[in-house]
Amino acid sequence: MKLSRFNIPVFDEPRKGLMLLFNTLTMDFDELEPEYRQTYQKLKNNGVEYSPQELIQIEEMTAAGYVVSDHEAEKAKAAEWMRALSYHNDGVYRATIVTTMACNLNCVYCIEAPFTSNRTMTLETADKAFSRIIREIEDRPTKHIAIAYYGGEPLLNLPVIEHLSRRFQEWCNGTGITYSFTLSTNGTLLTREMVDRLKELGLCLAQISVDGMAEIHDKRRPFKGTGLPSFDVVMQNIKDVADILPVIIAGCYSLETEPHIYRFFDYLIDQGLDKKLDSLLFSPETSRIGDNKTSCTSVDCAINPQWSASHYVRVQKEIINRGFNLNKPLLAHAGCALALNYGHIIIAPDGYLYKCNALIDNKEYSVGHVDNENLAPFHHICMTKELWRKCLEETDCPYVYFCGNACGCRYAAFVDSGDFWHVDCQRKHYDELLPELMKLEYHRINLAASKSSNS
Ligand code: SF4
Ligand code: SF4
Repeated sequence: MKLSRFNIPVFDEPRKGLMLLFNTLTMDFDELEPEYRQTYQKLKNNGVEYSPQELIQIEEMTAAGYVVSDHEAEKAKAAEWMRALSYHNDGVYRATIVTTMACNLNCVYCIEAPFTSNRTMTLETADKAFSRIIREIEDRPTKHIAIAYYGGEPLLNLPVIEHLSRRFQEWCNGTGITYSFTLSTNGTLLTREMVDRLKELGLCLAQISVDGMAEIHDKRRPFKGTGLPSFDVVMQNIKDVADILPVIIAGCYSLETEPHIYRFFDYLIDQGLDKKLDSLLFSPETSRIGDNKTSCTSVDCAINPQWSASHYVRVQKEIINRGFNLNKPLLAHAGCALALNYGHIIIAPDGYLYKCNALIDNKEYSVGHVDNENLAPFHHICMTKELWRKCLEETDCPYVYFCGNACGCRYAAFVDSGDFWHVDCQRKHYDELLPELMKLEYHRINLAASKSSNS
């Protein structure tokens, strides 16, 4: 009996004598009582004799993956799980359609800034995108089609959203497959009347970007051309739609603007939006594209190593303490879409297919085109690289599953080193981050439990 290599123990938390334990492979997370902690320590010290009581505890810890019989067998299981992660099919076909690269705002850190143009998807390309998605679905078991409309500002090309939604709804009719869509929008055009109409077509959620109070948001997200402020317009639209549509408020912050976003969270409470919003997703800016500040907020992306652990955790704690939901679990393993086989295709306005928002318009990293039957060789390379094998075989790293199926962020590796496949190991960052995330997750669980027992 041995301790799993994927265990992350935090001793004397939440109190002296106890410990928090997280297994990055099974994703089990527990608080261990003193007697379990003693048994854990005994295993760590290669103890030979165990009492019947200790053996029961070991059996329980084995069920959670904290104890294993053999490290080689555990490694083999991890390799199998890593491959399964890349080829996973939960029956939900997810794709992103970039309806336009045009935007009516001029954000200072825009991820698309180097490529910003008014390129807009035509209905002809939209039809080809539809056929491409249907071809993929017909090959694999699918229960639901989940499309994210993205931009630029996706609502600047409403005809494509409406046209595609009608086509998906008609196609799904009688198949047992359902369709819904989400919007990643700056919120300036999202009126209640529009939401009513789009809900009929499958709209189920909007992610709206706000960067804090007016004095911050308006500097960072002014209207294009006029430079006029956008905060009041966006907030009015959020208030108008939050009772009929789940809304995520997403934003970026820097060290300078961090205190202002706390004021913004309090403002949301004053406006009664804490009870209405689906969740908050606030990410630190990171310098990634040239001189621009940008931040990858893709739900499945690897944790960005430029986020200092304390900085990131502090903001998440402020969100939790005010009673908002986080948009994603704190202890979630990373998954880079580049190495996901089923779905997760991003279709650009010109019909090129990508796997990562940050790579749009870099055609050498495109995985195909709506005109072509087959995916491009780059997709095959992404699926077969399996960088994690080296980490699993040649190191004792406990984060292999957590670090993701592409060993962190490929795009960040490229920007930092010029080599797309460079393993930009962030083990030290995880060493700092994981214990903080575990403490915060414990705090979050307890806060939720005490709230539900008080209500
Ligand atoms: S890249 Fe580093 S942190 Fe990630 S799995 Fe490999 S060794 Fe671990
Ligand atoms: S390369 Fe990086 S930014 Fe792109 S999908 Fe993967 S983790 Fe996200």
